[in-house]
Amino acid sequence: MDEDDKLAGEDSLIQTYFAPLTSAFSGAYGLKEDCAALTPEPGHDLVLTTDAISEGIHFRPGDAPEDIAWRSVAVNVSDLAAKGARPIGYLLSLAFPELPDRDWLKRFTNGLREAQDQFGIVLMGGDTDRRPGSPLSATVMAVGSVPQGCMIRRGTARPGDLIYVSGTLGDAAIGLRVSASAPVTGLADDDRAFLEKRYLRPQPRVALRDALLAHARAAMDISDGLAKDLGRLCNASQLGAEILSASLPLSDPARRAIELHPELANLPLAGGDDYEILAAIAPGQASAFEAAAQSVSIPVTRIGILRPEPGVRIFDADGKLISLRQSGYDHFGL
Ligand SMILES: [Mg+2]
Repeated sequence: MDEDDKLAGEDSLIQTYFAPLTSAFSGAYGLKEDCAALTPEPGHDLVLTTDAISEGIHFRPGDAPEDIAWRSVAVNVSDLAAKGARPIGYLLSLAFPELPDRDWLKRFTNGLREAQDQFGIVLMGGDTDRRPGSPLSATVMAVGSVPQGCMIRRGTARPGDLIYVSGTLGDAAIGLRVSASAPVTGLADDDRAFLEKRYLRPQPRVALRDALLAHARAAMDISDGLAKDLGRLCNASQLGAEILSASLPLSDPARRAIELHPELANLPLAGGDDYEILAAIAPGQASAFEAAAQSVSIPVTRIGILRPEPGVRIFDADGKLISLRQSGYDHFGL
């Protein structure tokens, strides 16, 4: 294939598979331009984030193209959700070790379509590239919108703020370890399927946006494990935190998996891939925040409190301080 044929092939690939994903956004010009043009809503800031996922690191070589596509968008939308931003659009850069076949592309773009429909976001532009020898990677840059000056930050919590998380923690990390290919036994098929799906299909908490904008003093998403991300929020706010490990919200399947395999018990604290929201709420706002979350059917759980003294202190059910260093959680600033 000479260079012209190859370019013609890539152009037709983009027109066939990716241009239809832009149809709700005229500023993408059907992917026939070099750039997209986006008019911000008056009185709003654009909120930008980017995250790349690559094979072997963020997803497994055998994962379905639909799931890889979903993940590439979802991990970015999760950041927007935590900032109180309404998702608008995204740019997508794909790097392939070799050009994928049509079936793979069709399934991948089906996954993008599912994510778009679910999160209210649209493809605005992108790039495809062939990098022989490199793992498959998908880099998304996502754009959202917040009322001007209202992006929720991670460094604005105050001492005494209550620490809340959305949903349940540890499901995805446990799901990765109990997936069909893993040597973990004894779990009911339904539980295994639930947990693996929580890994394969992260559900960013987009619907929590109004509750966060109205009531959160600081927030971020939990992508690298609660302990690590809470450490980041604390560092940014120049505070410390006290949390009760028994208060961490667990799904029933996660609870049963941990009963069967106690070595999984650290994962709700340190596992990663949760894509839930971590928020600091002023005590006077707590009941209003809980009510607002309930009104959009997103469970939120209070797990602790922010303190002036730096460091994250985690207490077990007996009120004993869990030694972070001994438990292997010594990677955040103490
Ligand atoms: Mg994040």
